[in-house]
Amino acid sequence: MGQQSAVSALSIVAFQVNGRSYHLPPRPLVAICLDGSSNEYLTVAMAHGRMPNLQRIIQRGHHSVARAALPSFTNVNNASIVTGTPPSIHGICGNFFLDPVSGQEVMMNSSAFLRAETILAAAAQAGRKVAMITAKEKIRDILSHQLKGIAFSSEQAQAARLETHGIDQVEKLVGEPAPNIYSAQASLFVLRAGLALLNQQRADFLFLSLTDYIQHRFPPAAPEAIDFYGALDEELGRFLKTDAILGITSDHGMNAKQLPDGQPNVIYLESLLSAKFDPDVRVILPITDPYPAHHGALGSFAVIHLSNPNLTGPVQNWLLKRPGLSEVYDRPTAVRKLELPSDRTGDLVALARRDVVIGRTPQYHELEVLQNGLRSHGGRYEEMVPFIISHPLKPDYLDRAAADLRNFDLFDFLTNGVQLPGLPLS
Ligand SMILES: [Zn+2]
Repeated sequence: MGQQSAVSALSIVAFQVNGRSYHLPPRPLVAICLDGSSNEYLTVAMAHGRMPNLQRIIQRGHHSVARAALPSFTNVNNASIVTGTPPSIHGICGNFFLDPVSGQEVMMNSSAFLRAETILAAAAQAGRKVAMITAKEKIRDILSHQLKGIAFSSEQAQAARLETHGIDQVEKLVGEPAPNIYSAQASLFVLRAGLALLNQQRADFLFLSLTDYIQHRFPPAAPEAIDFYGALDEELGRFLKTDAILGITSDHGMNAKQLPDGQPNVIYLESLLSAKFDPDVRVILPITDPYPAHHGALGSFAVIHLSNPNLTGPVQNWLLKRPGLSEVYDRPTAVRKLELPSDRTGDLVALARRDVVIGRTPQYHELEVLQNGLRSHGGRYEEMVPFIISHPLKPDYLDRAAADLRNFDLFDFLTNGVQLPGLPLS
């Protein structure tokens, strides 16, 4: 297929993955995960007049909020979005879990832990030119699982090789050096690389996943946050000049988790439980990842492994009385209501109040890395995220958007739910 044939010549192709059907429209598709963006970040930036392109997208298309997967973490929700499934199906329920057989804490940042196929790999199989670009290298392996296409991170852009990443010379493609991961540029670089691939017709089915560096540092009304969304909007404007269908959602929101003096508002759960109930208790914090400066391994979600299962009831009852915790579930309830994989979940799961994070012990956390106070995520209060489609929705998809919309319905909406001029409605 020559360069020019590209997308306009594509016929509608359908494929199935994880029990869901996707009908590819004859247009390029661009799905964007705005890492750490609660809806407020967008609405505040729009109120300041800094996102005119997003406003145009919303005027023409669709804007609502969707429910993310819990725990509201990056890799959990990115895995959900690219598989169209909750963690109970795809298996990624945090950065770490406790292996019940070995008793070891196991890092889950490898596709070896992914139990579902990805929509990206399936779209490539169906003949689309797929590109997956992420800011964070830690999720590249999961998101590019079995993908025959382009896949790289802005964090490790210089490491991209044709044989392993489907692309090389990424900096040349974008026309600028790859940025530091702790920067706003890390996200903008991802969008610019995606746009270059789209414009050069090297990709027509894209997943672009940003980083939440800005959101960890600044609330929605901070000038730095507004500037970031303004810069992001300029990139969106460039996508609007293409004929791509755009879908935008997020992996989780972000909230301040600190006391008035700026110190993190932490419940040290392992210390509390080992003193009162179980000296051998293990509290796993699945937010723990290679980017400690973002959050100091403190989030609003924890998994508790007790040495004696008979303690489950008493510990749950005691924890439910702690004012800082909003929800505490035993394993069967967590599996059912939080959609978690049973074998990677503890005896109890705890979620903290909006302004509270859960820690292990005071010694475990390096709080010095938190330079500007603590903004973090993981719990119920970071669960609702924006859901934006650049084109009008078909009536049945409009109904679904008004019901229990999930962020991992994004590819379903992009492929099946959009009304395009000149195409039949069904
Ligand atoms: Zn994230």
